[in-house]
Amino acid sequence: MPATQDQHNSLLLFPCPGCNSQLYFSPKLQLLQCEHCGTQVGIDKAADQIKENHLRQQLQTGEDTAITIEQQVYKCNRCGSQSVFLSETPTFTCSFCNYEAVNPEAYKTRVIQPSGIIPFKVDKQQSLDIFKTWIGKGWWAPGDLKAIARHNTLHGIYLPFWTYDAQTHSSWSGYGGRYYYETEHYTDSNGRRQSRTVQRTEWIYRSGTFDHFFDDILIGGATELTQKEYESVFPYQLEALVNFEAQYLSGWQADVYDIAVHDGYEKAETVMDNFIEEACAGLCRIDTYKDLEVNTSYSNQTYKHILLPIWLCTYVYKNKSYHFLVNGQTGKVHGKKPVSTGKVVMVILAVVAIILLIILLNQ
Ligand SMILES: [Zn+2]
Ligand SMILES: [Zn+2]
Repeated sequence: MPATQDQHNSLLLFPCPGCNSQLYFSPKLQLLQCEHCGTQVGIDKAADQIKENHLRQQLQTGEDTAITIEQQVYKCNRCGSQSVFLSETPTFTCSFCNYEAVNPEAYKTRVIQPSGIIPFKVDKQQSLDIFKTWIGKGWWAPGDLKAIARHNTLHGIYLPFWTYDAQTHSSWSGYGGRYYYETEHYTDSNGRRQSRTVQRTEWIYRSGTFDHFFDDILIGGATELTQKEYESVFPYQLEALVNFEAQYLSGWQADVYDIAVHDGYEKAETVMDNFIEEACAGLCRIDTYKDLEVNTSYSNQTYKHILLPIWLCTYVYKNKSYHFLVNGQTGKVHGKKPVSTGKVVMVILAVVAIILLIILLNQ
């Protein structure tokens, strides 16, 4: 495997026991490998440290049961994204905006240590193939887009996530509507008596309770991507989570969360509320429903901080920036492509020409 740009942005130095050069985590082999002499070093893949932390305690007392660590963080001068570097680095290329900093200055900060990580499974070549296939698809896209599919625009990066669990109890009330049909008589415009069937709704007051346990609601912890963008490459198979070990980051970038644990929880409550609302609507509905009111109490909320792998390409086309994402575990793709105005105009002209031709031929 040749040294890639990502690896020059490397975070940690794990020296090779054979030749002292840097070991990198290999998605293909799922262990550390030396590029020079091929030495392989295994990583302990236990998952016994992935524990839930109590959220209520954190919210009420500000005290955190989670382990925190001090990290060297680089903040991008252009977009503000924050990356972890545990060793000095001569250059830093931002994954989100491609900004390149020489001799970047780090600052130290305490953050909640990730308890779990899903190591990269999709390697650089695979993600590039996925990217090239995706960019070649879609007739509407501008032709010169393919030039963007260059090697150095894809970054393998571990993104910070919060997962939340909660037990919920909801009471709901509303009106379920049952349809029935009646025959209605009326006089038509010719003065004749007519009849027709009309649908009417009988409203019946209903109420009840709904209990649900939410397990591992995933909320993105970095503001560089929207929750919608994160969700576009879901699901992650969280069964594959292993204990966080710094070795997994060797040769890769990792982003630091800037959404605090309680702010992430608010987003998780929105996700839960939407789910509960829909479930209660299903209970209230007969043929239809109205005036649904739901009151929910949450208990035993817990959270975890984890890192998940993403291949990310931020590319700029005609002054607009676009994200292309590949789930680093499953290879699921999400991206937005610009539309070529030239091609749209061409199609409109062709359609107009065909219509004119049909009119002419019919005369
Ligand atoms: Zn070596
Ligand atoms: Zn940036």
